[in-house]
Amino acid sequence: MAEETQARTPESGASSAPQDRPSSGPGGGSGPRPGGRPSGGPGGRGKFFRRKKVCKFCTEKIDAIPYRDVRLLQGFVAERGKIVPRRLTGVCTTHQRRLTRAIKQARNIALLPFATRH
Ligand SMILES: [Zn+2]
Repeated sequence: MAEETQARTPESGASSAPQDRPSSGPGGGSGPRPGGRPSGGPGGRGKFFRRKKVCKFCTEKIDAIPYRDVRLLQGFVAERGKIVPRRLTGVCTTHQRRLTRAIKQARNIALLPFATRH
C-alpha cells in the first residue's frame, strides 16, 4: 500500500495565475464561478457595492426641467410637498436647482401642493 497523502492541492501558492478562460458556459452568462476559491488575503476590495447614483437629468440629457411634467416632479417631491434633498435623489447640483425652480413653478400653477404646514 502506498501512502497517498491528499494534502496536495493543485492550486498552491501562486495567487495571481493568469487564467485565460473564455467564459463559455452552457447556457450561462454571469453566474458564480464554480470551484470555491477562498480569496485569502488582506486588502478588502469590492465588499460593498455602491449604488451608482447619477443625475437622472444628466443621463437623459434634460437641460430644462419641464415644470409641467408633474409626474416627473413628483418623483422629487415628498408626500408633504417637500422637495427631496438631492442626497436622496442623486440629482446633481445644477439640476437640483432647476428642479427646485420647476417645482416652485408647478406649485404656483397648482400642479403640486405646497409644503403642508403644521
Ligand atoms: Zn444633472
